[in-house]
Amino acid sequence: IFFSINTNMPVVDIDVASLPKQLFINNEFVDAKNGLKYPNVNPATEEIICEVSEAGEADVAVAVAAAKAAFEGPWSKVGPYTRSKLLWKLADLIEENLDFMATLESLDNGKPFCESSNADVPLVIQCFRYYAGAADKLTGNTVEVGGPLVDDTFTAYTLHEPIGVVGQIIPWNFPMLMAAWKLGPALAVGCTVVLKLAEQTPLTGLYLGKLIKQAGFPPGVVNILSGYGAVTTDGGVGAGLAILRHPDVHKVAFTGSSKVGRIIMRECANTFKRLTLELGGKSPNIIFPDADLAAAVDGALVSQFFNQGQVCCAGSRTFVHEDIYDEFLEKLTIAAKERQKLGDPLHEQTTQGPQVSLEQFNQVMNYIELGKQEGAKCIFGGCREGTKGYFVQPTAFVNVKNDMRIWNEEIFGPVMSIAKFSTMDEVLHMANDTSFGLASAVWTKDLGTAQYMQKRLRAGIVWINCYSVFDANLAFGGYKSSGIGRELAEYALENYTEVKQVCMKSHPSFK
Ligand code: NAP
Ligand code: MG
Repeated sequence: IFFSINTNMPVVDIDVASLPKQLFINNEFVDAKNGLKYPNVNPATEEIICEVSEAGEADVAVAVAAAKAAFEGPWSKVGPYTRSKLLWKLADLIEENLDFMATLESLDNGKPFCESSNADVPLVIQCFRYYAGAADKLTGNTVEVGGPLVDDTFTAYTLHEPIGVVGQIIPWNFPMLMAAWKLGPALAVGCTVVLKLAEQTPLTGLYLGKLIKQAGFPPGVVNILSGYGAVTTDGGVGAGLAILRHPDVHKVAFTGSSKVGRIIMRECANTFKRLTLELGGKSPNIIFPDADLAAAVDGALVSQFFNQGQVCCAGSRTFVHEDIYDEFLEKLTIAAKERQKLGDPLHEQTTQGPQVSLEQFNQVMNYIELGKQEGAKCIFGGCREGTKGYFVQPTAFVNVKNDMRIWNEEIFGPVMSIAKFSTMDEVLHMANDTSFGLASAVWTKDLGTAQYMQKRLRAGIVWINCYSVFDANLAFGGYKSSGIGRELAEYALENYTEVKQVCMKSHPSFK
């Protein structure tokens, strides 16, 4: 999927002074208790956009108390129909502000406006509408009780009840979309939320707080905190960790690195929090010799260069059949040059922006250096672009071997690694030979090949003749080290509910 320039939807001027930059707690924007703030950097210019409040343990305590009070009080009386209307209203408000939200996302994250306006924000709207539709369709089961202990006077049914206060921790690669994936199902089923934004990209998340209040959600239902994960800048417990340690938070949903995912799991063990994890990947993108080559080349570009390669399901291990290998490389090189227009993310023609932060830029540049040292051959890119902003050229390596770190580790940047294969079982073995299992893709015109591969790929997603297709109705999540549980679609509703089994013996009053 390539995003065309939508001239009906222009980049808008952002008045930074009027943006919400404080913590959103109990439907109010407030300073952090300790008064901490941190600078939020524009990755395209390396200039500071603004200072943003930094939440710590004390702010998490207030936010959780607000969420708990809302859960036990007003929100518990808000029925499914009203929850549905509130979510729908929120989607409408985002849609009314689509160009503004897309501009804000591009400013903060560095992603090109053509992506934020055509993908991120429309998907956010769809996600909230999907869960608006789901809110009043939750059902349990009626159960036949017929075991050795009962007679015919028993009736039983299950209720799917909201878990309570949930903590949600999200990354910076799709700031607003990750917030929507988390908030949509949690609010649909009646939970209340403390959401921690990624410290690199707080602006759309905080603005969402303003729209949530405007939509009419009662105070305390959604609390949104900007700040750091593990430690605050003054050495205190970070907002992320404080959420994990709070005894009144009963469920945690996290998207981010597998490394932090492990920490989260350990922390959640202490209070047996329910947990869903969306983690990293090193997803195989497999191109068979009968594939529509032009489509496969486009798909490979999307799989690796969409969102500057900062995509957990990126097709970062590309497998190309030997019969088409040379032709594929030639076409890929030409297409990368044509399609990847690096520059100001707010410029209409730009299709690739900067990496989100200096840290990520350095990580990607280090992996490129490592690839060269490991003996892989760089066929295009391989350098920083320009001298200002965290821009990295679209890069591809060939002659990549199984034991190279660039083949095995998540780079999270515009760096593609390509390997050649000759047989189906060989490529299947290589594709599955990873600790990850998030996504995968197969390019072929042969139904038999597609089905054979789809059954055997050990990944939560298999795309056939497409890549990175997101939709609120498509489940998302990983096998193995790529995570636990599924987000989106009806599966996400289970993440936020407890099953209550009711069993009733009825005694007739009248004889
Ligand atoms: P990360 O460290 O996993 O951070 C994700 C979120 O968790 C952020 O909100 C982060 O807060 C928070 N966090 C970090 N340590 C925590 C802790 N000990 N307790 C509670 N919360 C904690 O990801 P990152 O540093 O942003 O990126 C590092 C790498 O992760 C990337 O290079 C990439 O490989 C991977 N990544 C994967 C995804 C994905 O979608 N699967 C998304 C982003 C990154 P801070 O604001 O302090 O970071
Ligand atoms: Mg930023």
